[in-house]
Amino acid sequence: LKPVVALVGRPNVGKSTLFNRLTRSRSALVADFSGLTRDRHYGEGRVGEKPFIAIDTGGFEPVAKTGILLQMARQTQQAIAEADAVIFLVDARAGVNAHDHEIARQLRRNSQRVLLAVNKAEGMAHNAAISEFHELGLGQPLAISAAHGDGIVELIEMALEGL
Ligand code: GDP
Ligand code: MG
Repeated sequence: LKPVVALVGRPNVGKSTLFNRLTRSRSALVADFSGLTRDRHYGEGRVGEKPFIAIDTGGFEPVAKTGILLQMARQTQQAIAEADAVIFLVDARAGVNAHDHEIARQLRRNSQRVLLAVNKAEGMAHNAAISEFHELGLGQPLAISAAHGDGIVELIEMALEGL
């Protein structure tokens, strides 16, 4: 069975950009993956020889129906239930906000493996990019750039370690 990695985070942090990079050229829907719902995308990625399934949460249903907080909570919960590891994306340029804290609280309540990825960090000193995200209480933040590809291989290798 291929390990499953879910991408969570508030809107606009770069989840879909990272998903597209991880699943580049193999973004075909995983038809036989149970629990497909309308508000998530499934794709297959590969690091070295090792295949994995990536889940992009968020952004496929109108937010107005339920409100952003409820939608984020539900998507995070589904990610925790479905995935072997969770990559929690935050935005280095925007900094920590209340929605990040809400997701972090939810992730900390579970024993799920969580990697905290500080996206949009290209051109920034890594220490400066990650420093304020320690307060989320999810371990060492990793500076990445989904758009530029910086830090992505290290991130996914850590997410999949031992799986
Ligand atoms: P999502 O809502 O979390 O899926 O975020 P998207 O992947 O749609 O990205 C939101 C915006 O952030 C888009 O304009 C992206 O081009 C931009 N973005 C994503 N990754 C990066 C990055 O690494 N660096 C910068 N500067 N912008 C990024
Ligand atoms: Mg998206």
